[in-house]
Amino acid sequence: MHLYDVSLTFETGMPVWPGDPNLILERVSKIEAGDDVNMSQLSMSVHTGTHVDAPFHFLANGKTVDQLSLSDLTGRAYVLYLPDAATITADQLRRAEIPPRTRRILFKTRNSNYWAQKTPGFQTDFVALSVDAAEYLVERGFRLVGVDYLSVAPYDDSIPTHQVLLKAGVILVEGLNLAAIPPGRYTIYCLPLKLAGVDGSPARVILIGV
Ligand SMILES: [Zn+2]
Repeated sequence: MHLYDVSLTFETGMPVWPGDPNLILERVSKIEAGDDVNMSQLSMSVHTGTHVDAPFHFLANGKTVDQLSLSDLTGRAYVLYLPDAATITADQLRRAEIPPRTRRILFKTRNSNYWAQKTPGFQTDFVALSVDAAEYLVERGFRLVGVDYLSVAPYDDSIPTHQVLLKAGVILVEGLNLAAIPPGRYTIYCLPLKLAGVDGSPARVILIGV
């Protein structure tokens, strides 16, 4: 059994969406300073690092992250490698050989190199899904869509791709590091925190080779 961790490490200085709060992770109690315990405090946007978008992120009456189906978040998944894509389009998805009845798909693109190479700062030219690709995924009945940068949608046109997917109740997983992952079939476990009434959550995501 091959177990892959496709989560980013949460650490001070990690890239965040421009304008979002920076992650702050600090030890507020220190044994070496005479305290009884080490204890840390974390402050960040819930859309930092590897995270899930719930429909409520873009839809006023959408489901929140604590209401997402665990059976959508876990199960068979397919990693599709699109090394040359600048934008992922419906046309490319039609031509890709995605196994039938696949309900969870993760897109591995050149974005993963940013994580592998620890490229500092937020990159605006990341590969993302066009609106027609989002529509195609909804028509095909996908329940979970994962990408290897911090948004499913292009930097300069964030709203439409998110809305198409989230209106259909598709769970979005953003900020995956797929650099070391051979394309193909896996079982995914994507576990966001059970945050009450919230639009998203950081998540630990693992893939198990099948
Ligand atoms: Zn997000």
